[in-house]
Amino acid sequence: MTASKDSIHRAMTNDGAFRVVTVRATDTVAGVLQAQDASGETARHLGDLVTGAVLIRETMSPALRVQGILKQRKGNGYLLGDSHPSGSTRGLVGGAHSEFEMNDALLRVVRTLQDGRIQQGVVAVPDGGDVSKGLMTYMQESEQITTMIVVGTLFDDGKLAAVGGYLVQLLPGADRAPLMIMTERLEDFCNVDKFLLQPDFSPQSLTEELLWGMPYTELESSSFHYKCWCSRTSMMGALSSLNRSEIQSMVDDGEVLEIACDYCRRDYRVTPAELTGLLDEN
Ligand SMILES: [Zn+2]
Repeated sequence: MTASKDSIHRAMTNDGAFRVVTVRATDTVAGVLQAQDASGETARHLGDLVTGAVLIRETMSPALRVQGILKQRKGNGYLLGDSHPSGSTRGLVGGAHSEFEMNDALLRVVRTLQDGRIQQGVVAVPDGGDVSKGLMTYMQESEQITTMIVVGTLFDDGKLAAVGGYLVQLLPGADRAPLMIMTERLEDFCNVDKFLLQPDFSPQSLTEELLWGMPYTELESSSFHYKCWCSRTSMMGALSSLNRSEIQSMVDDGEVLEIACDYCRRDYRVTPAELTGLLDEN
């Protein structure tokens, strides 16, 4: 794995009106798309979704795992972006084998709490919308926070060129005047493509552009990267949740079981003896 230059950057305007979070996610998304062998519009939506999951985790709950899941209402196709508090990030193209169709999609955002419980919200992606619109709808409906989110995954001749985005949040108690100025300002930032393509693009440079002329304070930055956190232990844990008769029939087959991780395609081999061990534990 090559080193990731991806990072996320936070800032706040000095009048306390806005929080701004900017992100570069090119290396992470490159890893995800390669592992999933994704291309075309599916790859673009998946890149946006992975970036969105990182943005939401870093903004709303940095200590929790956050998953963003886009699901087609009809059919069984789905895309998943998975952001771990350690900075490890992965993604998945699931279900259908055809290109992911954004029309009529649902966006689910899932947070895993420290005790293993989950919190989730589901919204419909607006007609003609993309991941950015879905994320904004989620923030408005489920979190009730006025938020502008724009993410972008750019390709050049079919090859991934740049991925990034930003989030601007109106903080509680802010006046209407700064909101009007910001709303007008953000009309120029509905799309981040031209910023992503600048050769010196960084989360810091995007913050500078977004907050041009507004006094602000830079807060902490953090880095993240493509990495799957599957393990032999977690895979055996998943196997042990099958019922006894299913495990018994695999033992009876007498063959080495080969299981690939859906996220990173790493292969795990389980011997009949190990499967018998699972029966003993139950
Ligand atoms: Zn894995």
